[in-house]
Amino acid sequence: MKERLKIAVQKSGRLQDGSLSVLRECGITIDNGGDQLIASARDYDADFLFLRNSDIPQYLEDGVADLAILGENVVIESGKKIEVIHKLGFSRCRLSMAIPRGADYDSPAWFNGKRIATSYPATLQKWLKDQGIEAAIHEISGSVEIAPGIGLADAICDLVSSGSTLIKNGLREVEVLLESEACLVKGPALTPEKEAMTREILFRIETVEASRNNKYVLLNAPDEKLEIICSILPGIKSPTIMPLAMTGWSSVHSVISDSDFWDVIGQLRENGAEGILVIPIEKMVR
Ligand code: ATP
Ligand code: MG
Repeated sequence: MKERLKIAVQKSGRLQDGSLSVLRECGITIDNGGDQLIASARDYDADFLFLRNSDIPQYLEDGVADLAILGENVVIESGKKIEVIHKLGFSRCRLSMAIPRGADYDSPAWFNGKRIATSYPATLQKWLKDQGIEAAIHEISGSVEIAPGIGLADAICDLVSSGSTLIKNGLREVEVLLESEACLVKGPALTPEKEAMTREILFRIETVEASRNNKYVLLNAPDEKLEIICSILPGIKSPTIMPLAMTGWSSVHSVISDSDFWDVIGQLRENGAEGILVIPIEKMVR
Protein backbone atom coordinates (compact mmCIF):
# COMPACT_ATOMS: atom_id res chain seq x y z
CA MET A 1 0.00 0.00 0.00
CA LYS A 2 1.24 3.47 -0.82
CA GLU A 3 2.32 5.54 2.16
CA ARG A 4 0.54 8.80 2.95
CA LEU A 5 2.57 11.88 3.67
CA LYS A 6 1.39 13.71 6.79
CA ILE A 7 1.64 17.48 6.45
CA ALA A 8 1.11 19.64 9.54
CA VAL A 9 -0.53 23.03 9.03
CA GLN A 10 -1.44 25.66 11.64
CA LYS A 11 -4.94 25.00 12.99
CA SER A 12 -5.89 28.67 13.02
CA GLY A 13 -3.86 31.82 12.85
CA ARG A 14 -1.64 33.83 10.61
CA LEU A 15 0.08 30.96 8.81
CA GLN A 16 -2.96 28.93 7.82
CA ASP A 17 -4.14 30.74 4.67
CA GLY A 18 -0.64 31.07 3.22
CA SER A 19 0.15 27.43 3.98
CA LEU A 20 -3.01 26.10 2.36
CA SER A 21 -2.47 28.29 -0.69
CA VAL A 22 1.13 27.08 -1.22
CA LEU A 23 -0.13 23.50 -1.08
CA ARG A 24 -3.10 24.29 -3.35
CA GLU A 25 -0.80 25.81 -5.98
CA CYS A 26 1.13 22.54 -5.87
CA GLY A 27 -2.05 20.59 -6.62
CA ILE A 28 -2.52 19.35 -3.06
CA THR A 29 -5.95 20.37 -1.83
CA ILE A 30 -8.51 19.49 0.80
CA ASP A 31 -12.23 20.16 0.59
CA ASN A 32 -12.70 22.20 3.75
CA GLY A 33 -10.33 24.26 5.87
CA GLY A 34 -9.15 23.56 9.35
CA ASP A 35 -12.38 22.60 11.12
CA GLN A 36 -11.22 19.00 11.48
CA LEU A 37 -8.00 17.77 13.08
CA ILE A 38 -7.14 15.66 10.05
CA ALA A 39 -8.22 15.88 6.41
CA SER A 40 -7.21 13.84 3.37
CA ALA A 41 -5.93 15.57 0.26
CA ARG A 42 -8.17 14.98 -2.75
CA ASP A 43 -5.43 14.70 -5.32
CA TYR A 44 -2.26 13.54 -3.56
CA ASP A 45 -1.35 10.74 -1.13
CA ALA A 46 -1.26 13.13 1.79
CA ASP A 47 -3.19 13.96 4.95
CA PHE A 48 -3.25 17.40 6.52
CA LEU A 49 -2.95 17.60 10.31
CA PHE A 50 -4.28 20.85 11.75
CA LEU A 51 -2.29 21.63 14.90
CA ARG A 52 -1.18 24.43 17.20
CA ASN A 53 1.87 26.06 15.72
CA SER A 54 3.90 25.65 18.86
CA ASP A 55 3.11 21.89 19.02
CA ILE A 56 4.23 21.13 15.47
CA PRO A 57 8.03 20.82 16.06
CA GLN A 58 7.44 18.03 18.59
CA TYR A 59 5.06 16.18 16.24
CA LEU A 60 7.66 16.43 13.47
CA GLU A 61 10.45 15.16 15.68
CA ASP A 62 8.29 12.24 16.84
CA GLY A 63 7.31 11.34 13.27
CA VAL A 64 3.59 12.00 13.84
CA ALA A 65 3.91 14.53 10.99
CA ASP A 66 6.42 14.28 8.13
CA LEU A 67 6.34 17.84 6.80
CA ALA A 68 5.01 21.13 8.10
CA ILE A 69 4.73 24.77 7.24
CA LEU A 70 6.06 26.80 10.15
CA GLY A 71 7.60 30.16 10.96
CA GLU A 72 11.40 29.89 11.24
CA ASN A 73 11.08 31.56 14.64
CA VAL A 74 9.15 28.52 15.92
CA VAL A 75 11.69 26.09 14.43
CA ILE A 76 14.58 27.92 16.11
CA GLU A 77 12.80 28.27 19.45
CA SER A 78 11.92 24.56 19.52
CA GLY A 79 15.53 23.36 19.31
CA LYS A 80 14.16 20.12 17.79
CA LYS A 81 15.92 17.99 15.18
CA ILE A 82 13.85 19.27 12.31
CA GLU A 83 15.08 20.71 9.06
CA VAL A 84 14.04 23.83 7.14
CA ILE A 85 14.07 22.66 3.51
CA HIS A 86 12.60 25.69 1.74
CA LYS A 87 11.77 29.28 2.65
CA LEU A 88 8.34 30.27 1.41
CA GLY A 89 8.53 34.07 1.51
CA PHE A 90 5.32 34.84 3.43
CA SER A 91 4.58 35.70 7.10
CA ARG A 92 7.80 37.64 7.33
CA CYS A 93 8.53 39.04 10.76
CA ARG A 94 11.40 39.53 13.20
CA LEU A 95 11.92 38.68 16.84
CA SER A 96 12.89 41.90 18.57
CA MET A 97 13.55 43.50 21.92
CA ALA A 98 11.29 46.43 22.73
CA ILE A 99 11.37 48.83 25.66
CA PRO A 100 9.10 51.66 26.89
CA ARG A 101 9.25 54.55 24.41
CA GLY A 102 10.59 57.10 26.89
CA ALA A 103 13.45 54.96 28.24
CA ASP A 104 17.04 55.92 27.41
CA TYR A 105 18.75 53.16 25.46
CA ASP A 106 22.30 52.94 24.23
CA SER A 107 23.27 49.25 24.14
CA PRO A 108 22.07 45.75 25.05
CA ALA A 109 23.65 46.30 28.49
CA TRP A 110 20.44 48.23 29.22
CA PHE A 111 18.77 44.84 29.79
CA ASN A 112 21.01 43.91 32.74
CA GLY A 113 18.87 43.23 35.81
CA LYS A 114 15.63 43.83 33.89
CA ARG A 115 12.50 41.64 33.70
CA ILE A 116 11.72 40.66 30.11
CA ALA A 117 8.39 39.15 29.00
CA THR A 118 8.41 36.80 26.01
CA SER A 119 6.85 33.75 24.35
CA TYR A 120 10.31 32.84 23.01
CA PRO A 121 12.33 32.08 26.16
CA ALA A 122 14.92 29.79 24.54
CA THR A 123 15.83 32.24 21.79
CA LEU A 124 15.91 35.11 24.28
CA GLN A 125 18.02 33.14 26.76
CA LYS A 126 20.59 32.41 24.06
CA TRP A 127 20.72 36.05 22.95
CA LEU A 128 21.17 37.28 26.54
CA LYS A 129 23.95 34.75 27.08
CA ASP A 130 25.70 35.79 23.84
CA GLN A 131 25.50 39.42 24.95
CA GLY A 132 26.74 38.59 28.46
CA ILE A 133 23.57 39.94 30.07
CA GLU A 134 21.83 38.75 33.24
CA ALA A 135 18.08 39.36 33.13
CA ALA A 136 14.91 37.68 34.38
CA ILE A 137 12.77 36.04 31.71
CA HIS A 138 9.00 35.97 32.22
CA GLU A 139 7.47 33.47 29.85
CA ILE A 140 3.92 34.32 28.78
CA SER A 141 2.03 32.74 25.91
CA GLY A 142 0.28 35.74 24.39
CA SER A 143 -0.33 39.52 24.54
CA VAL A 144 3.29 40.02 25.50
CA GLU A 145 3.16 43.66 24.41
CA ILE A 146 0.94 44.67 27.34
CA ALA A 147 3.39 43.33 29.97
CA PRO A 148 5.37 46.56 30.52
CA GLY A 149 2.19 48.65 30.72
CA ILE A 150 0.73 46.51 33.53
CA GLY A 151 3.98 46.37 35.46
CA LEU A 152 4.74 42.72 34.73
CA ALA A 153 8.02 43.43 32.94
CA ASP A 154 10.47 46.21 32.03
CA ALA A 155 10.80 45.12 28.41
CA ILE A 156 9.60 42.51 25.94
CA CYS A 157 11.02 40.16 23.34
CA ASP A 158 8.33 39.58 20.73
CA LEU A 159 7.52 39.17 17.04
CA VAL A 160 7.20 42.38 15.07
CA SER A 161 6.04 42.85 11.50
CA SER A 162 4.78 46.39 10.88
CA GLY A 163 5.61 47.59 14.39
CA SER A 164 2.15 49.10 14.92
CA THR A 165 1.38 46.88 17.95
CA LEU A 166 4.50 48.19 19.66
CA ILE A 167 3.59 51.80 18.93
CA LYS A 168 0.05 51.31 20.24
CA ASN A 169 1.51 49.99 23.48
CA GLY A 170 4.03 52.78 23.94
CA LEU A 171 7.00 50.57 23.09
CA ARG A 172 10.07 51.04 20.90
CA GLU A 173 12.01 48.33 19.06
CA VAL A 174 15.71 48.45 19.96
CA GLU A 175 17.30 45.12 18.91
CA VAL A 176 16.51 42.43 16.32
CA LEU A 177 17.30 38.86 17.47
CA LEU A 178 16.27 37.07 14.29
CA GLU A 179 14.39 37.44 11.00
CA SER A 180 11.73 34.88 10.13
CA GLU A 181 9.44 33.77 7.33
CA ALA A 182 7.23 30.74 6.71
CA CYS A 183 9.21 27.62 5.75
CA LEU A 184 8.66 24.07 4.63
CA VAL A 185 10.07 21.93 7.43
CA LYS A 186 10.88 18.21 7.45
CA GLY A 187 11.01 15.67 10.28
CA PRO A 188 14.21 13.72 10.99
CA ALA A 189 13.30 10.18 9.89
CA LEU A 190 11.23 10.01 6.71
CA THR A 191 11.04 6.71 4.82
CA PRO A 192 12.62 6.69 1.33
CA GLU A 193 9.12 6.80 -0.18
CA LYS A 194 8.23 9.89 1.87
CA GLU A 195 11.57 11.49 1.00
CA ALA A 196 10.67 11.04 -2.66
CA MET A 197 7.23 12.59 -2.11
CA THR A 198 8.91 15.51 -0.33
CA ARG A 199 11.23 16.04 -3.30
CA GLU A 200 8.17 16.03 -5.57
CA ILE A 201 6.47 18.71 -3.44
CA LEU A 202 9.66 20.81 -3.44
CA PHE A 203 9.84 20.52 -7.21
CA ARG A 204 6.23 21.73 -7.45
CA ILE A 205 6.87 24.67 -5.11
CA GLU A 206 9.92 25.71 -7.15
CA THR A 207 7.90 25.41 -10.35
CA VAL A 208 5.19 27.69 -8.98
CA GLU A 209 7.80 30.20 -7.76
CA ALA A 210 9.58 30.22 -11.10
CA SER A 211 6.32 30.88 -12.94
CA ARG A 212 5.43 33.67 -10.54
CA ASN A 213 8.83 35.32 -11.04
CA ASN A 214 8.86 35.15 -14.82
CA LYS A 215 6.79 36.54 -17.70
CA TYR A 216 6.23 35.33 -21.23
CA VAL A 217 7.08 38.07 -23.74
CA LEU A 218 6.10 38.30 -27.43
CA LEU A 219 7.21 41.10 -29.69
CA ASN A 220 7.60 42.04 -33.33
CA ALA A 221 10.94 43.10 -34.74
CA PRO A 222 12.44 43.94 -38.12
CA ASP A 223 14.68 41.08 -39.26
CA GLU A 224 17.83 43.20 -39.26
CA LYS A 225 17.32 43.80 -35.50
CA LEU A 226 16.82 40.14 -34.57
CA GLU A 227 20.39 39.52 -33.54
CA ILE A 228 20.54 42.38 -31.06
CA ILE A 229 17.04 41.66 -29.74
CA CYS A 230 17.90 37.99 -29.16
CA SER A 231 20.98 39.01 -27.22
CA ILE A 232 18.77 41.07 -24.88
CA LEU A 233 16.29 38.18 -24.51
CA PRO A 234 18.00 34.93 -23.58
CA GLY A 235 14.84 32.90 -22.75
CA ILE A 236 14.97 29.50 -21.06
CA LYS A 237 17.21 28.10 -23.81
CA SER A 238 17.02 30.75 -26.52
CA PRO A 239 14.17 32.83 -27.95
CA THR A 240 11.72 31.41 -30.49
CA ILE A 241 11.60 33.30 -33.81
CA MET A 242 8.69 33.02 -36.23
CA PRO A 243 8.24 34.94 -39.49
CA LEU A 244 5.34 37.39 -39.71
CA ALA A 245 3.08 37.44 -42.78
CA MET A 246 4.68 40.81 -43.58
CA THR A 247 8.12 40.18 -45.13
CA GLY A 248 11.14 41.53 -43.33
CA TRP A 249 9.52 41.17 -39.87
CA SER A 250 9.49 38.40 -37.27
CA SER A 251 7.77 37.58 -34.02
CA VAL A 252 10.09 36.81 -31.10
CA HIS A 253 8.93 34.84 -28.03
CA SER A 254 10.83 34.50 -24.78
CA VAL A 255 10.69 34.41 -20.99
CA ILE A 256 12.05 37.19 -18.80
CA SER A 257 12.39 37.39 -15.05
CA ASP A 258 10.54 40.01 -13.03
CA SER A 259 13.74 41.30 -11.49
CA ASP A 260 15.04 42.70 -14.79
CA PHE A 261 11.67 43.21 -16.47
CA TRP A 262 11.68 47.04 -16.89
CA ASP A 263 15.32 47.12 -17.84
CA VAL A 264 14.82 44.50 -20.57
CA ILE A 265 11.63 46.14 -21.88
CA GLY A 266 13.48 49.47 -22.15
CA GLN A 267 16.34 47.92 -24.12
CA LEU A 268 13.92 46.10 -26.44
CA ARG A 269 12.09 49.32 -27.31
CA GLU A 270 15.36 51.17 -27.91
CA ASN A 271 16.37 48.42 -30.33
CA GLY A 272 13.29 48.47 -32.51
CA ALA A 273 10.90 46.01 -30.85
CA GLU A 274 7.19 46.79 -31.39
CA GLY A 275 3.87 45.38 -30.21
CA ILE A 276 5.38 43.94 -27.05
CA LEU A 277 2.97 41.62 -25.20
CA VAL A 278 3.73 40.45 -21.66
CA ILE A 279 1.78 37.44 -20.41
CA PRO A 280 1.75 35.76 -16.97
CA ILE A 281 2.99 32.18 -16.86
CA GLU A 282 0.72 29.61 -15.22
CA LYS A 283 3.43 26.97 -14.61
CA MET A 284 7.08 26.82 -15.63
CA VAL A 285 9.11 23.60 -15.60
CA ARG A 286 12.79 24.11 -16.31
P1 ATP B 1 -0.40 28.89 17.88
O1 ATP B 1 -0.81 28.25 16.57
O2 ATP B 1 0.37 27.92 18.71
O3 ATP B 1 -1.51 29.62 18.56
P2 ATP B 1 0.74 31.58 17.53
O4 ATP B 1 -0.27 32.13 18.46
O5 ATP B 1 2.17 31.98 17.69
O6 ATP B 1 0.73 29.98 17.51
P3 ATP B 1 0.14 33.24 15.22
O7 ATP B 1 0.04 34.43 16.10
O8 ATP B 1 -0.95 32.95 14.24
O9 ATP B 1 0.32 31.88 16.05
O10 ATP B 1 1.54 33.38 14.43
C1 ATP B 1 2.01 32.38 13.61
C2 ATP B 1 3.32 32.78 12.99
O11 ATP B 1 3.13 33.91 12.14
C3 ATP B 1 4.42 33.23 13.95
O12 ATP B 1 5.08 32.14 14.56
C4 ATP B 1 5.33 34.00 13.01
O13 ATP B 1 6.18 33.10 12.30
C5 ATP B 1 4.37 34.61 12.00
N1 ATP B 1 4.18 36.09 12.19
C6 ATP B 1 4.36 37.01 11.22
N2 ATP B 1 4.16 38.25 11.66
C7 ATP B 1 3.83 38.16 12.94
C8 ATP B 1 3.49 39.13 13.94
N3 ATP B 1 3.48 40.43 13.71
N4 ATP B 1 3.18 38.67 15.17
C9 ATP B 1 3.16 37.34 15.41
N5 ATP B 1 3.48 36.38 14.49
C10 ATP B 1 3.83 36.78 13.27
MG1 MG C 1 -2.24 31.76 18.94
